[in-house]
Amino acid sequence: MHSMHPIVKLVEGYAATILSSAPLAAQRRTPAILWMGDPGSRELALSFDDGPHPRDTPALLEVLARYEVQATFSWLGERVEAWPDLAARVVGAGHQLMIHGYRHRSFLLEHPTELRAMLDRTRALLARHGGLDPERIRSVRPPFGHLSGGLVRKLLAWGYRPVLGSLVPIHWLIPQTVAVRQVVQQARGGDLIVLHEALGGPPVAGLTDAMLARLAPRGFRFVSVEALWQAHDRVFPGATEPR
Ligand SMILES: [Zn+2]
Repeated sequence: MHSMHPIVKLVEGYAATILSSAPLAAQRRTPAILWMGDPGSRELALSFDDGPHPRDTPALLEVLARYEVQATFSWLGERVEAWPDLAARVVGAGHQLMIHGYRHRSFLLEHPTELRAMLDRTRALLARHGGLDPERIRSVRPPFGHLSGGLVRKLLAWGYRPVLGSLVPIHWLIPQTVAVRQVVQQARGGDLIVLHEALGGPPVAGLTDAMLARLAPRGFRFVSVEALWQAHDRVFPGATEPR
């Protein structure tokens, strides 16, 4: 249940890389989706997909605490069921929780009625185990970054807000030094960085540590995905209203 065929992960990496090739243009073209924050700011958002994970999540919390950095964890409902205690630890440390899905399958392959039930179930799990108000858990980053216009409209009608990202290194396929260099060289104000728990390759906590050691001295301020939405809503008012 927790293993992933390498080809699936490869496709995820390519999809994300293609999607994020011009995030600022994409943000203007599809304002109902959160791609990134304010490019005129010194804010970065750091996010982690695919958890929780019994090794990676606690190790990440240790690194984030050391740099006093707030991050956002984008989790799968079935993994929250397997490791429910990690939600309270993440929320207690001041981080945001959002939804990646109930299971790691493209939303485009799910029946809409079932997809909505799985999203609602995942939101209830995050709320219960994280001690959160379910109404405030609205951000959803779909597996593989798969979205369509119809799916965006459905998510909005169901009360969710679709999130992608602007800087997505394929860190499970490349050496840590290469992934760190990519992020450090490419990071610009407003970027939404997407990393992954629960994958092979170099442990994500060590990777995050190496990235933060080089990004923190450059005066970036790390904010949650929710904070990016607030900035987004000022620039694109009403863009995520259901229609
Ligand atoms: Zn994923």
